[in-house]
Amino acid sequence: MLLQGKTAIVTGGASARGLGLATARLFAAQGARVVIFDLKGAEDAASGLPPVETGAHLGLACNVTDKASCESAVAETLAAFGGIDILVNNAGITQPLKSLEIKPENYDAVLDVNLRGTLYMSQAVIPAMKQSGGGSIVNISSVSAQRGGGIFGGPHYSAAKAGILGLTKAMAREFAPDQIRFNAVCPGFIATDITAGMMTPEKHEMILAGIPMGRAGVASDVAGCCLFLASNLSAYCTGTELDVNGGSHIH
Ligand code: NAD
Repeated sequence: MLLQGKTAIVTGGASARGLGLATARLFAAQGARVVIFDLKGAEDAASGLPPVETGAHLGLACNVTDKASCESAVAETLAAFGGIDILVNNAGITQPLKSLEIKPENYDAVLDVNLRGTLYMSQAVIPAMKQSGGGSIVNISSVSAQRGGGIFGGPHYSAAKAGILGLTKAMAREFAPDQIRFNAVCPGFIATDITAGMMTPEKHEMILAGIPMGRAGVASDVAGCCLFLASNLSAYCTGTELDVNGGSHIH
């Protein structure tokens, strides 16, 4: 068991086919008590996780764009579990817009959930991690940050995810002396509901043609990377980006 006795928060973890829930399931299967934060459905999602000997999992309503909401959900987690060892900043949204179509509200929505949320949630857990002697924070970026989009999200999504890479590296440097590690995961195209209602069969074919491994990723492909970065297997890794893209972007 790689996460025995650990407490892990996964944001955006309530989506049934999402990367967050797959990660939460794998963490629980590896012995962690998991707290799912999401806009809605977190309690139900948490109740469906594999049981652990150390007690029940928890699901809490949290809007990661709202600093007070992050702080109160983290306070509730600490009251319930006493500490936080792992945070996965997974909550995210995308929009398939071109540069000239991005309106102020599109920019705000995409930057706020992906980038501001990652900062606010990290700020909320750092004091507890410092106090307990360390922790691991895994930020979900995207191949879109590295190659300038081209799969699904618009330029504002690429910018938000690239912002996450910068934030990850700067915070990794700042908090390394506190033994708090920050790493990023850069998924390529993974079959989840984030593209719900926005994907066409032609677009799907075009995406698959650009993936040397010949298939879309599945949520468990990303969960495995999160487990590596969350656990002590990656004890000396901080400030890294881990690609999980079937070869669609080799650099
Ligand atoms: P998803 O839509 O299935 O899940 C995203 C979750 O985030 C949802 O449960 C949603 O309710 C939650 N969320 C949205 N706004 C929130 C907020 N303000 N506060 C709290 N929770 C909020 O998407 P997914 O595909 O599982 O994506 C998970 C992460 O992976 C996202 O950051 C996404 O950008 C990233 N990603 C996905 C892919 C892919 O191909 N699926 C590729 C690269 C990166």
